[in-house]
Amino acid sequence: MAHQDQPHRAKKSLGQNFLTDQNICRKIVDALAPSPDDTIIEIGPGRGALTEYLVETGAKLRVVEMDDYLADRLEARWPGLDVIRADALKFPWMDLNGAGPCKIIGNLPYNVGSKLIWDIVSQVTTLERAVFMVQHEVALRLTAEPGVKAYGGLTAWVRNFSDTRYLFKVPPTVFRPQPKVDSAVVRFDPLPENARPEDPDRLAGLVKLLFQQRRKQISTILKKRMTPAVELWFQEEGVSPALRPENLTPAQFRALSLIY
Ligand code: SAM
Repeated sequence: MAHQDQPHRAKKSLGQNFLTDQNICRKIVDALAPSPDDTIIEIGPGRGALTEYLVETGAKLRVVEMDDYLADRLEARWPGLDVIRADALKFPWMDLNGAGPCKIIGNLPYNVGSKLIWDIVSQVTTLERAVFMVQHEVALRLTAEPGVKAYGGLTAWVRNFSDTRYLFKVPPTVFRPQPKVDSAVVRFDPLPENARPEDPDRLAGLVKLLFQQRRKQISTILKKRMTPAVELWFQEEGVSPALRPENLTPAQFRALSLIY
């Protein structure tokens, strides 16, 4: 508790926008459908706005906080709380798989939200549900349907691992300090084991390749990879290779990634 007497200033570099509205905090926690039997991991607990309601659920709770000052304060407020002082971007998410089912929640720092979600949905195979608050624009991407502008690499990737649901919008006025943009809460319900990609590396490769040039036709981007087998696949899917990457469904990305 080395810094206890120093006032805490929100650190912009750590995306510190703290929630101040109790109703919204409760709504976010409720979206996780928590029960006392759950193991819940909270990312970026900050000053404990969500943690307070998570503690009330009686679930086994672990929190990952990178800011030492805030970690000290959390430990002082809830002695015995499992506070992991770590950068969530470097956290070994796969290690959770050995410890049974878990739920993950967080009002995510905006600069790292997409990357964290990319990693978590694909690496935590024991995930039962996740609820994340992200920038509104990211929430639209996570929940977009094929064919629209918001549908991109993040969408195609995440939806191969999880259903996503846009829950509600959150205005800047309920944070201190206030962010410049709207936020939104998204729920993630993982797909069953047999619906997950067989070869995530190949899928990631295809998603990145196609969306790096999303305005081009798929056949132009794939060029020499348009083998007879790939041509046949497009025919059988009833999809024209002259379409753009955003026109492929997440399942089509998965299938194409195995043959291209
Ligand atoms: N949960 C709190 C709330 O809703 O008021 C705080 C949310 S604030 C948007 C993000 C929190 O994540 C901050 O406490 C910040 O210190 C922490 N944080 C930022 N980057 C992080 C990282 N890479 N790993 C772990 N925590 C991080």
